[in-house]
Amino acid sequence: MTLVQPVIGRGNVKVGPIPTFSLPSRFTCPGATPWCLEHCYAWRFERIWPNCRAAYALNLVLSWNTRRFVKVMHRRIPKDLPAMRIHVSGDFYSAPYVTMWIYIARSSPRTQFWAYTRSWNVPALLPALERLRALPNFELFASSDPGMPDPPSHWRVAYLETDPRANGLPCPHQYGGASSCHECRYCLRPYARQRSRMQRNLS
Ligand code: SF4
Repeated sequence: MTLVQPVIGRGNVKVGPIPTFSLPSRFTCPGATPWCLEHCYAWRFERIWPNCRAAYALNLVLSWNTRRFVKVMHRRIPKDLPAMRIHVSGDFYSAPYVTMWIYIARSSPRTQFWAYTRSWNVPALLPALERLRALPNFELFASSDPGMPDPPSHWRVAYLETDPRANGLPCPHQYGGASSCHECRYCLRPYARQRSRMQRNLS
């Protein structure tokens, strides 16, 4: 039987030629704050590009079938893929969904995954996210905005550059220091994990 395939993005201006996986924004963002909903760049893109919205919706529907999703993603991710960005749009919307990514990352040990999430602010999702971020090939950042409390102290954090708490590495892509994440790779590096903080814009 042929399984419907998830849509894997081929990269973008920010990440460079690194494959991406996304879900519909807002609908899959249980940790979104009023600030986040008001400034959501992914939502703007989805309104401009309905094809993106349709692709993300397909990915979401596929993710509702846990076993099938893990199976098709396992097939779609090449064994030698160096890196993959999760959630250019969307977020970790449930504990079973986070667990699926644990299975996927474990079955692709040569691929370095990374993502930014506000779902750390949802208590029911935090235990699963802790298990995901403990994997050696998954770098998970707590996204934060000025309306949110401090993320857990042991997490890597991505603050907005306008947040008074932001005192980490300014994202080189925003200031011309790197053409893309593919060139920079700071967020992908596990050895940069120790209480790493960074500042980033919305793009
Ligand atoms: S710090 Fe580097 S890897 Fe992280 S978002 Fe910016 S350009 Fe990408």
